[in-house]
Amino acid sequence: MLSFRSLRVRIAVIMALLVALVLTLMVVLVSVANLRVFYQQGADELQRGEYIFRNLLAQHDQQMTQAAQLLAADFGFRSALASRDAPTIMSALDNQRERIGASLALLSDLDGQLIVDDGVPRVYPFPKLLADARRDGQASGIRLFDGQAYRVVIVPVRAPLTIGWVSMGMPVDDQMAAEFQRLSGLEVSFMLMGSAAQGKVLSSTLPTLVRQALATVNPRDERLHLAGQPYQSRLLVLDQNPTNAEHVDVLLQRSMADILAPFYVLLQAMLVLAVLSLIVVALVSVRIAGVVTRPLHRMVLVAQRIQAGQYAQQIESLDTVEMAELGSALTHMQSAIAAREDRILNLLYRDGLTGLHNRAGFIDVLEQRLISKAAQTVVLVNIDRFQQINDTLGHPFGDEVLVAFAHQLERVMVGHTIEVGRLSGDEFAILIEGSADWAGLIDRLVAHFEQPLQVMDRSLDVRATIGYAHYPQHSDRAVGLICCADEAMYIAKEKRLRHLVYDPHRQQFQEAHLSLLGELKHAVEHDELMLYYQPKVQLSTGQVHEAEALIRWQHPDRGFIPPNAFIPFAEQTGYIRDLTRWVIRRGCLDAAKMAAVGQQIRVSVNVATRDLQDAQLPVYIAQCLHEAQLSPTQLCLEITESGVMEESAVVMAHLIQLKDMGVSLSIDDYGTGYSSLAYVRQLPISELKIDQSFVRGVAAHNTDAMIVRSTIELAHSLGFKVVAEGVETEEISQVLTHLGCDVAQGYLYAKPLALPEFLAWLQARIAQ
Ligand code: C2E
Ligand code: MG
Ligand code: MG
Repeated sequence: MLSFRSLRVRIAVIMALLVALVLTLMVVLVSVANLRVFYQQGADELQRGEYIFRNLLAQHDQQMTQAAQLLAADFGFRSALASRDAPTIMSALDNQRERIGASLALLSDLDGQLIVDDGVPRVYPFPKLLADARRDGQASGIRLFDGQAYRVVIVPVRAPLTIGWVSMGMPVDDQMAAEFQRLSGLEVSFMLMGSAAQGKVLSSTLPTLVRQALATVNPRDERLHLAGQPYQSRLLVLDQNPTNAEHVDVLLQRSMADILAPFYVLLQAMLVLAVLSLIVVALVSVRIAGVVTRPLHRMVLVAQRIQAGQYAQQIESLDTVEMAELGSALTHMQSAIAAREDRILNLLYRDGLTGLHNRAGFIDVLEQRLISKAAQTVVLVNIDRFQQINDTLGHPFGDEVLVAFAHQLERVMVGHTIEVGRLSGDEFAILIEGSADWAGLIDRLVAHFEQPLQVMDRSLDVRATIGYAHYPQHSDRAVGLICCADEAMYIAKEKRLRHLVYDPHRQQFQEAHLSLLGELKHAVEHDELMLYYQPKVQLSTGQVHEAEALIRWQHPDRGFIPPNAFIPFAEQTGYIRDLTRWVIRRGCLDAAKMAAVGQQIRVSVNVATRDLQDAQLPVYIAQCLHEAQLSPTQLCLEITESGVMEESAVVMAHLIQLKDMGVSLSIDDYGTGYSSLAYVRQLPISELKIDQSFVRGVAAHNTDAMIVRSTIELAHSLGFKVVAEGVETEEISQVLTHLGCDVAQGYLYAKPLALPEFLAWLQARIAQ
C-alpha cells in the first residue's frame, strides 16, 4: 500500500514537487521576460508608427496647403474675391479641389462669413481653426462637417493685405485609415474624443466586430482586449489645444495575437517539456527513493529476523556511511541480545548451584527429545536423608554435597547421550535414550552410590533412591514421565528399595483400597484388629519401662495385612480417626492390664497428622485414661515428623493441651522428613525416635554414624530423650550405647508381640 507515511513515497513526492516548483518558476520567468520583450518591441513599433503617421499627415497638409496657397495667389481668384464674384470663386475653388483630390474647398471673408454662390449667408464652420490661422498665419486640424470628419487646412488670401481665407479638406474615412495602415503596418482608428462623444470611432482599419468593441473601452489603455484579441495601443492627440472639447484623436494599434502566437507555441512547447520532465523526474525519484530506502528495507528484514530469534545472521555491509553505521549497530545489538538471551535462558533453564538443567530446563530438553518419538527413560534420583546432612553439617556443606553428587552423576553417565538435571533440593533427573542400556546404567548408578563421596576432603556415604519411567509406555508427556518416575522413587523410598520402575498397576491397586475401607470398618467393629507390643529397652540398664503399640490386622480371607498397607490409606480417607481412637482405647486398657500383673509399662501409641487436628482427641484420651484408671504419664503419643511439619496453630494448641494433661509426646521416624532440630525444639515433646534407616547403617556407614551422633547430642542439649528404632544387631546396640542413645527398640530385643506373648517376654527378661 502506498501511503504518504512511507519514506519512499515521501522522497518521491517531495522531489517531484520541488522539480515542479522549479519548472513552474522557470516557465513563469521565461514567459514574463518574453512578454516584456514583446510588449517593448510593440511599444517601439507604435512609437515608430506615430512618427510615420505624423509625417504622412504633414504631407497631406502640405499638399492641401500648397493647393490652397496656389489658389490664394491666383490674380483672377483674388480679383473675384475683391469683387465678390461668387460664381467665379466657386468655380476656382472646385477646380483646385478636384485637382488635388480634396473633397472640401471653402472661402471665408475676414469676418468669418462663407462666400457662396447661392446668396444665403453662412458662417465659416471651423471658427476655432480660423482663429488659429489669424494668430499663426495658417492652421490645420481635423474637424467635423455635416457629420463627416475632415482634415482641414486654412491659408490666407493676400492682396497684399489679407482679404479672405481659403480652406481645403480631405475626408477622414476608412480609406485614409487604410492608406496610413499601408505605410505604417499598424491598425489606425480615428476616434472622436471629448466629453460628449468619448471614444466614438469615426473610421478605422479594424474589422467591424473589433471596431464595435473599441467603442466600449478606454482607448487610453496601452493594452486592450478587443473581441478576444489582444492589442497594444497608442493614442495620438492631434489637436494640441486642450480647450477644444470635441476633437479627433488617432489610435494606433498592433494586434498582439500574431506576435504572441510564436510565444504561445514556445510556451506550449515549454509546458509539454515541463510535464514530460516532471514525469521523468517522478519516475527517477521513485527509483532514487527505492535506492535510498532499499537498505532500510534490508535492515528491517534483519531486525525482523533478530525479533524472530535468529542471532547468527551475517549483516552485509552497505555502501553508504549511514547505512554501514546502522548495520554495525544492528550487528552489535544482535550479539548483545543473543548474549543477554543466553544469560536469561541460563537463569531460567540452568541450576545456579550445579550448572545442570533446572526443572524447566530438563522438561524443555525432555519435550524436545519426545518430538523424535524415540524411546526414552527418565530416571529420578533422590538423595536419602539429605535434610540431616544439611542440619548436621550445615547448608554450605550441603551445597557442596549437591555439587559433588551432580558431578558424580555426570561421571557415571559419561560416554552416554544423557541429560542430567536438578529438579529440586536433593532431587536429580537423568534422561537416557531408550536405545542405551538404561538398566545397566541404573545398576552402575546404584553401585556408585555405595561408594563414599568425596566432599571438601571428607569422605561421605551419600546414598540415593532411584525411580524411573519409560517413554512411551508410561506417559507420552514430559511432565507425566517425571511424575511417574517421581512416584516410583517415593514408593522405592517407602519400600526401602534402591531403585524401582514406575508401576501403572499401582493405580489400579489403589482403587482396590476402596473396597478395603469397607473391610477395615468391618474389622474395627468386629474386633479383627489387634494391638501388638514391641518393647523399648533402656540402653544403660537393659530395663523395659515402655512399649510401642503396633496395630495388626488378621484378615479372614487375605491373611495378615501390614499396617503400611492400610494406615496411609486410612489417613487419606479420614477413617484414621476411628482407627486411632480404637488403638488409644485398646492401648490404655492393655496398659491397665499390664499394670494389673505388676508391669508398669508406658504404652506408646502412633497418631496420625489428621488426628492432631481433631479437637476432641484430648477429650477422648482423657476419657480412655479415666476408663482404664491409668495415669496420663503411662501414655505416650508418637507423632510422625511429617505430621508436625504440617503443624498449624490448631495442632500446636492440641499438642500443648496433651502435654499439660501429662501425656508424653514423641517425634517418630525422625530424619525422614525435612524438619530441623531447630524447628522441633519449639514443639512440646519429650522424645525423639531416630528413624531405623539411620540406625541400620550406624555401625557400617560413617555418615549415618555422624548424623546419629550429632542428632543425639543436639537432642540431649534440648532436653529430649533419644530412642533408636530398628535395632537388629548387638553391634548397633553397642554403637548406640557408645553414642549415648537412651532407649533402643528392635528385633534384637523382640518383634512386636501380642499382649500375652509380650507379658511372657517381660517375665522371661526379668527372670534372666
Ligand atoms: P513406626 O511407628 O515407626 O513403627 C515401627 C515399625 O518398625 C514397626 O513396623 C515395627 O514392626 C518395625 N520394626 C521394629 N523393630 C524393627 C527392626 O529391628 N527391624 C525392622 N526392619 N523393623 C522393625 P509396623 O508395625 O509394620 O508398622 C509400620 C508403621 O505403621 C509404623 O511405623 C507406624 O507408623 C504405622 N503404625 C503401626 N501401627 C499403627 C497404629 O496403631 N496407628 C498408626 N497411626 N500407625 C501405626
Ligand atoms: Mg511408631
Ligand atoms: Mg518409627
